[in-house]
Amino acid sequence: MTRNVRAWLRAAVALLATMTLLGGTAASGAIDTTGAAGVGDRYFPHYGNGGYDVRHYAISVKYDVASQRLSGVTRVRSVAGQRLTRFNLDLVIRASSVSVDGRPARFTQGKHELVVTPRRPIISGERFTVRVRYAGVPGELRAGGLGAWFETPDGAIAAGEPEVATVWFPSNDHPSDKATYDIRIQTRRGTQAVSNGTLVERTRVGREVRWHWRVTEPMATYLATAVIGDYDLVRGTTAGGTPYLYAITEHLKGRMRRNAVRSLRQTPKVVDFFADRFGEYPFAITGGTLINASFGFSLENQTRPNYSKVFFYGENHEVIAHELAHMWWGDSVSVRRWRHIWLNEGFATWSSWLYLAHEPGAGFTLNDVFGDVYLRFSGYRPFWRLRLDDPGPRRLFDRAVYDRGAMALQALRNRIGAVAHDELLRRWASERQYDTGTVREFEALAEEVSGQDLAVFFDEWLHQRNQPRPSEELGFPPDLLPLGAARESGRVPESLLADPAQSLRSRT
Ligand SMILES: [Zn+2]
Repeated sequence: MTRNVRAWLRAAVALLATMTLLGGTAASGAIDTTGAAGVGDRYFPHYGNGGYDVRHYAISVKYDVASQRLSGVTRVRSVAGQRLTRFNLDLVIRASSVSVDGRPARFTQGKHELVVTPRRPIISGERFTVRVRYAGVPGELRAGGLGAWFETPDGAIAAGEPEVATVWFPSNDHPSDKATYDIRIQTRRGTQAVSNGTLVERTRVGREVRWHWRVTEPMATYLATAVIGDYDLVRGTTAGGTPYLYAITEHLKGRMRRNAVRSLRQTPKVVDFFADRFGEYPFAITGGTLINASFGFSLENQTRPNYSKVFFYGENHEVIAHELAHMWWGDSVSVRRWRHIWLNEGFATWSSWLYLAHEPGAGFTLNDVFGDVYLRFSGYRPFWRLRLDDPGPRRLFDRAVYDRGAMALQALRNRIGAVAHDELLRRWASERQYDTGTVREFEALAEEVSGQDLAVFFDEWLHQRNQPRPSEELGFPPDLLPLGAARESGRVPESLLADPAQSLRSRT
């Protein structure tokens, strides 16, 4: 979180320059005391804000299942990174009152930005708390990206990437500013309200019940979830000692329920397997929710991924492994800017290959998957005409980011050897725990750990829009050299290969 200060300064300087050019309010030479409207992420210029660092969110919402209306009060506790006469929060749901340190503040609200003018300026380094009261029907609101607030017959689900928070709480909505959370969701008695982290208490409030969840490790805003409806809660502890909590919808029946529950029950095994490989599970608790919704993605909400029904026409360990791998790659170590999405999706996809290849009776290796994916997509231009280190905001969740991303990580394993590769991943997870990273920083660590010059390797795999040609230098396994003689292994499950024309992978 300390890292952000420089980015805010850059954003503030850029804004100041713009305002000066436009002859705006910033007089030449004056110090800008306005927090920037974005953190400076060029994919999503209005995501996040400048001038402060959030430490804690205390979210308290009430959801009425019948009217689908949400009302809430959120307290955002922050530290100012500069003097602030004005600053922004990201919020799409409509605010009705704002106070700063207990004093009413003036505010205006655009489509996405809540602009707050505190009664007196906030001094650089000062702690301050913003309290926002708001209400609306979040299911009718649009956040950018995939998903947001989904209404279900029995409740609702908040899940989306890269943006979802704005429809149910005010925030500095960018993974470069993580914070801890207390999340209180109040709803009718008999309905469950599940969120991230640990359940602190359930309190009866008249005819309703308030569920209080606590997240004690830093979390990115898009990973905060609300799952409201008829759910069975199941608790336990993995063999490795990590507590878990599942929420399983009561509305899933028959074979699909069996498939889904069996898959979800892989969670303890998957968490312990990855902890063994990547280093200690980073959070106090794990689990997952099988939700009463059929949208086309599952999401790695911190400690409690959401799994949509559509993944369970058969038993599906891949999706469980993918989302849980994100606890290390994406949740604990987050992207500093959204262009670094390969560090999330390429890594989670590769990790799911790793888990599946180690299941008893799997009968295939990581290089079988690498080779078969390579051959399946060979010559298919859309798959290769994308820079993994800069896919662009429209192709953030492109199939290539996932599968080619996983191939790049496997090629790196072949190139530097399994021992160095294991050490690299463990160091990446531990040195950047609860923090953020960039592709370049990962490249630098790979060179340091392996002691090799990997400039050509990374250039071909991550910085070019070309199909890498098989060579030892680029980490191709020997059976793909020469390519003309290579055939698919026939050992890899079809679900890992699928149709090359399917460009959007139905998960995040
Ligand atoms: Zn993912």
